[in-house]
Amino acid sequence: MSSFKLKSSFMRILNPKNWLLTLAILGSASGLIVAQVPAFPVSDLDRSTHPGVDFDQFANGGWKTANPIPGTESRWGAFGILDKENREVRLKTIIKELLANPQAKAGSEAQQIADFYRSYMDTELIESLGTRPLKAYLDMIAKAKDLKEWNNTNAHLAGIGVSGVYGFGVNADRKNSKWNAVYLYQSGLTLGEKGFYTKTDSSAEAIREAMVRHIDKMFLLAGWKDKKPGTTILQFESKIAGFQLSNVELRDPEKTYNKISKNELAQLVRNLDLERYLKTMEYDFQELIVQHPDYLKNLNSFLATQSLETLKTYQRWQLLNSFATALPDKLQQESFHFNNTVLKGVKERKGLEDRAIDATNNILGMSLGKLFAAKYFPESSKKKVAEMIENVRTVFGERIDALSWMSPETKIEARKKLAAFTYKIGYPDTWKDYSTIEIKANTLIENIISARKWRVNEGRNKIGKPVDKTEWGMSPQTVNAYYSPMNNEIVFPAGILQPPFFNPDADDAINYGGIIAVIGHEFSHGFDDKGSKYNAEGNLDNWWTEADRKSFDALANKYIEYFDRKEVLPGLNINGKLTIGENIADLGGLTLAYYALKKSIDKKGAPAPIDGFTWQQRFFLGWAQVWHTNITEKALRQQVLTDPHSPARDRINGPMPHLKEFQEAWQLKPGDALYLDPASRIVIW
Ligand SMILES: [Zn+2]
Repeated sequence: MSSFKLKSSFMRILNPKNWLLTLAILGSASGLIVAQVPAFPVSDLDRSTHPGVDFDQFANGGWKTANPIPGTESRWGAFGILDKENREVRLKTIIKELLANPQAKAGSEAQQIADFYRSYMDTELIESLGTRPLKAYLDMIAKAKDLKEWNNTNAHLAGIGVSGVYGFGVNADRKNSKWNAVYLYQSGLTLGEKGFYTKTDSSAEAIREAMVRHIDKMFLLAGWKDKKPGTTILQFESKIAGFQLSNVELRDPEKTYNKISKNELAQLVRNLDLERYLKTMEYDFQELIVQHPDYLKNLNSFLATQSLETLKTYQRWQLLNSFATALPDKLQQESFHFNNTVLKGVKERKGLEDRAIDATNNILGMSLGKLFAAKYFPESSKKKVAEMIENVRTVFGERIDALSWMSPETKIEARKKLAAFTYKIGYPDTWKDYSTIEIKANTLIENIISARKWRVNEGRNKIGKPVDKTEWGMSPQTVNAYYSPMNNEIVFPAGILQPPFFNPDADDAINYGGIIAVIGHEFSHGFDDKGSKYNAEGNLDNWWTEADRKSFDALANKYIEYFDRKEVLPGLNINGKLTIGENIADLGGLTLAYYALKKSIDKKGAPAPIDGFTWQQRFFLGWAQVWHTNITEKALRQQVLTDPHSPARDRINGPMPHLKEFQEAWQLKPGDALYLDPASRIVIW
């Protein structure tokens, strides 16, 4: 959904998997649900591989062999396994208990969750309704007589979470982060990223051809008689893609910040009758922030050249695609086939019950999260994590003081920013009121529409108001973490506070390589290529001296080139510019966690080796463990093209060679693949 999409562009998350869909863990009333889990099972190792040749394979080779990707997944690792346990064990338990209790009050979480689940399970009704629940919107599309009316229909569709070629959203103003602002951003590509439309290699071409076949089939299954809708839409979207910014260009917070008045906007898109669009959206404001004014200018001219028929075909596709997973099974199957099998290499669909849990979690994630947190999150974890956060903060401060490339003036500002970081752990202190979402046991699509309308309305109500700093961008059960530059805060949902990330039974070295490096990763986002452009108050503002900025950029550029050289599949290299923020965060996170561990060991004394590994070695095994992953080739390819996170293997083998502590721990020598001579190592934080 558009508002989520916008939000995502403001959050630096730890790991891409699932979070966009689930905006959505682990633990039991009396403590973590997870029974004792070994800190690092030696069976995970592949001792036939030298750690200096391929550390990922050495640390995780045994695990990879023993844990093939399940047919229903495109990748398999710590994140996915925990996520599956949450959904298929804990969320399932919660839902089953609610289903057994029919007396839930209307509008309560209990009623909404149970009835939403029931509406998803009522497949007979879904089949008999076909696309009829979308009829009001299809009629609206059919009625439009010109471009301006077409554009007004877009506003109605945006109101139920269907994206168009642009979208509005409300979020903290990047230059005045205490107040909300309206943002206008590009959107509307079925394949998401413009590269899929502009690249000429055979893999991109195959994806475009598959998209055409997919759209043709979806139209046919919906009973629509258009001729070659797939080709029409591909041509239309290819043109739009040509006007859009790439995912690398979108990383620039300055260039994508263009504040203009509502009147200036109306001029930019005068063919579209924006006044009417905003009236329909019930959006009231005087100025807004436009991501890319040229895009709107091009769109304004281009749309006027398109036949109304093409525009409507595109609009019907957006509507159909947006609700595809709630329509009759043939449409669901085809949607699954394209989005999961063709694009990501997933072999089988999950069973109906598991899909119903996923859908409930997607739509009512926070409501489920409230029950989840009450049942499964141990309060004692909050205190432990808060202590870990403060330890990382202390070490980060010491490292800033010791930096050789940064001047004393900039260090004072960096220290200010570090001191101002806030954090959230586990679950929100205050829960939002979802009681006005109307959920009934027999109206799946209406239920989804009501939930989406609630979210659009939530955004609308924020316009002109101060930012609610208590808000969470992920539900508690999410196995992930994030940094928000405009709140200057790091957030750790209950979902990630379990093994292998956080294991109360493990030795310190494993936990420092796990959850503490994750904490360090999120702190480092405040000082990565983007985060470093925001000040302590969360405003886009240059707090650097010119010389220091240059030194930082020079280090970042070297690190970009280093990742650019990494070939993931034949002919496919990591995009250093796209992944630089995450790569800096991994490098920083590992370094901070290592020195936090060393500090603790200096105080407590060095522990005896475990399974033959020193604490230094176990620290690096801890980081490798949280990234053990098997992934399909298709999903890997898609990740490299679209995701700001490097593939899991490179989140291990990528940063480690730059740490002299890694080189020493494993006694690497010149000639080892992961050996870097001191002059080639990059130390930023
Ligand atoms: Zn990150």
